[in-house]
This record gives sequence, C-alpha cells and structure tokens, in this order.
Amino acid sequence: MSDSAPFVTPESVSELSDTVRTATDRGIRVRVAGSGHSFSPIASSDGMRIALTRMPINVEVVGTSVTVPGGITLNRLNRELDSRGLALPNLGDIDAQTITGAIQTGTHGTGAGFGGLASFVSALTLLTADGSTVSCSRGEPLFDAAVVGLGAFGVVVSVTLECVPAFILRAEERPSPLQPVLDGLDDLIAGNDHFEFYWFPYTSRVQVKLNNRVSELDTPLPGWRRWLDDSFLSNTVFGAGCRVARRVPGFARPLMRVSARALSARTYTATSHEVFCTARRVRFTEMEYGLPRAALGEALKGLRGVVEGLPFPVAFPVEVRFTASDEPWLSHGHGRDSAYVAVHQFVGMPHEPYFREFEKICLDLGGRPHWGKMHFASGERLRAAYPRFADWAAERDRIDPAGVFRSPFVDRLLS
Ligand SMILES: Cc1cc2nc3c(=O)[nH]c(=O)nc-3n(C[C@H](O)[C@H](O)[C@H](O)COP(=O)(O)OP(=O)(O)OC[C@H]3O[C@@H](n4cnc5c(N)ncnc54)[C@H](O)[C@@H]3O)c2cc1C
Repeated sequence: MSDSAPFVTPESVSELSDTVRTATDRGIRVRVAGSGHSFSPIASSDGMRIALTRMPINVEVVGTSVTVPGGITLNRLNRELDSRGLALPNLGDIDAQTITGAIQTGTHGTGAGFGGLASFVSALTLLTADGSTVSCSRGEPLFDAAVVGLGAFGVVVSVTLECVPAFILRAEERPSPLQPVLDGLDDLIAGNDHFEFYWFPYTSRVQVKLNNRVSELDTPLPGWRRWLDDSFLSNTVFGAGCRVARRVPGFARPLMRVSARALSARTYTATSHEVFCTARRVRFTEMEYGLPRAALGEALKGLRGVVEGLPFPVAFPVEVRFTASDEPWLSHGHGRDSAYVAVHQFVGMPHEPYFREFEKICLDLGGRPHWGKMHFASGERLRAAYPRFADWAAERDRIDPAGVFRSPFVDRLLS
C-alpha cells in the first residue's frame, strides 16, 4: 500500500483501533490524512492510509475548553465554536485544514501575541500502534513532543483547545511603499493584534493587513465589495493574470506591478474567523521559513536579489507574518519570536531554483521550514534548528518503538 492505496475510513474509535492493530500485526506502516493541504510530502504514505472523515463529530465544552475529534476541519470547528459564543484566538489564511493536520505541521497565523495553533491546545488523545489510547496534556513531555508531531506519534483522536469568547475584528488593508513598513516594523508588530504584509516581487510596494479586536460590528463589508475584492480581483482576475504569465513569462513583472496597485484600501468589521480565513482559489506552490525576528531585514534583502537573478519570473506575492515564541518542541516558533517569509509560485511555473536559493539564505539565518510546505534541507540541518529535537525523537521512539507511524518523510528527518 502507498499513496495510491485507497483510504481506510473507520467510523468509530473501536474500528480505528482494530484497523491500526491489524496493520501493526502485519508490519504495515500507518499514516493518517487530514485534508491533504500540505505542499510537502508529510502526509505521504508507504503503508496504510487512514482518513477520519467518517468518524462522528462530538464537541464537548467545559468553560472555554473545547474537546473535538482530531479529524474536524477548521471550517466546521469555527462554526461549532461560533454557535457557542467561542472562537480560536488566532487562525491562518484558510479553514480547509483539519485541526490535527494544522497542529501537526505547526500551522500559524500572524500576531506578536500569539504562537502557532498548537499553542492553543491543552490536551491530546492519541491512538497508538497497539490500538490503545493514551492522553497527555500541556507540560508533559509526550504532549510537548506530540502536539507538533508530524503525524509520527499515533492517530490523534481528540484535541482539547483553549478557546476565547467570540470576538470581532476590524480589518484594515492598504497598499504602501515597502520602506516605511520596514522602518516602522517594530511599532506595526507591537501596535496591532495581527499584522502582516505582502510584498510584490519586482516592486517596492506591499499590501499591509492590520486586524484588531473591537467591540462593535459597525463597518460590515457590503456583499458586492467582498465579492469584488476577495473573489473577483484576488481569485478570478489574479488567476487569469497568472495563467497568462505561465504562457508568456514576460507578463509576470507587469502582473506584479499592476497587482501591487490594483488592491485598494478597505476597512471592515466581521467575526474573527471571517476576517482571518479567506477563499484561495488560485493554485500555487509554497515554501515558508520561520526566522528569528531580527533576521527579517536581511532575509528580504537576500530575497530581492534571488528574485532578480532567476532565469524565470516570479508571478506571486510574498507573505510576511509574525508570531510569539511558543513551547512545542518542533514548533517553528519554539523558544523565539519569529518572522515568517512565505514564497509562492503559480502552479505549473518553475519554482525549485527559486525556493532552493532562498532556502540557503534562510538556513544561514537560523531559519526553520514550515513542516507542511515545500523545503529541501537535509535532516541534519533541520535537526540542528530545533534545540529539543533529540528529546522529540526519543519521545517518538518511546511511544511508537516499532515505527508504525514513521513514514518516508519522518525517516528522512531522523536519518
Ligand atoms: C491554500 C493554503 C493555505 C495555507 N495557509 C496556511 C497558513 O495561513 N498558515 C500556515 O501555517 N499554514 C498554512 N497552510 C499549510 C497547512 O496549514 C498545513 O500544510 C496543514 O498541515 C494542512 O492540514 P491538513 O488537514 O490538510 O493536513 P495534511 O496535509 O493532510 O496532513 C498534515 C500532517 O498531519 C498528519 N495528520 C493529519 N491528521 C492526523 C491525525 N488525526 N492524527 C495524526 N496525524 C494526523 C498527517 O499524517 C501529516 O503528517 C496552507 C496550505 C494551503 C494549501
């Protein structure tokens, strides 16, 4: 069995337990799939593939602690929380992922006061190779290792999240020259709950996004404006431009220049998850590196040089985000305030030389690649980037000595 094998889709924890135990007895390795939204081969399998799509969705709430099944999608989770007056404190750009897929890869949003999504988790229940379940909570070695566990600790059957009362965000988005943003970076990061920007290659311009908590839903975005900006301009028109750039590479530079000017300023208020997560219909491939915050300027300078020196054009903006230091041993933000630089390329256009050149710069600056996005660094370089890597590997071996939840991706990291 492998990536072409059909998914096994158990309908209960006991059926899941029988499935995993049978695989273990037969010496077959097991990989659980989330929504399949990783760019790296982290979800690839050389054994049995399990999907939790048919497991029941039970939501247990105790105060602001919410326990959900590991296979729930963020979209469903956001709606379940909203209906109970609760929310996740922060989110990434989309909501198609499962909660476990997101936390296992260190998925994050932006905001100097927030770690990655795994830092909102307080407990996990894992189903291990012998079919039994084990629970662990924040502060225990198993938890600190398994919460960003790359799918290598067992099947995550439930996740307990520390939520917050539902909140409203005021979103302010505006085009800006790059330099004033870099000059005022510290204030922008510290002065906003969630700050990020997109840099348009071949230009000195960015689109700035500032999301801040407010008490009133006083500036709703008219439906036509949301459609125009988020669906028509950001997806339909931009996607058409990218397709032209794929056929006529000379079109990429004007596309970036026009895109940098076409997005206008807008301010609106909406429920948090409606601001954080938007539809991304334009297909792309991506690599993202987490860096020590102080290294951002140098990384961006190097990136400009890389882009200008490529034998092919880049037809996609670069996203820059910020997170607080957090605890999970393999979190990209472990132990340090981070800046994230995400480089993209439109699907079907060359990307590997671009990503590899920028990766060299990031690694030299102490960068850590997002586990769910493309990267090429050796296991040795990756292990060196995480001070608790050896502890992570030891805890993994303790809970799964036979390596049932290892995979080609995990082997490469450990070897
Ligand atoms: C359009 C797009 C936008 C994105 N935006 C962001 C963003 O804003 N921020 C960010 O940080 N990342 C972002 N990502 C990356 C994405 O969040 C991660 O790759 C995430 O892992 C995808 O979740 P998934 O459910 O698809 O998991 P998959 O890719 O299917 O799996 C990821 C890992 O989780 C493991 N896994 C899944 N479920 C379980 C389970 N129940 N038990 C044990 N292991 C399990 C898998 O085995 C695998 O190792 C984006 C990706 C795309 C395609």
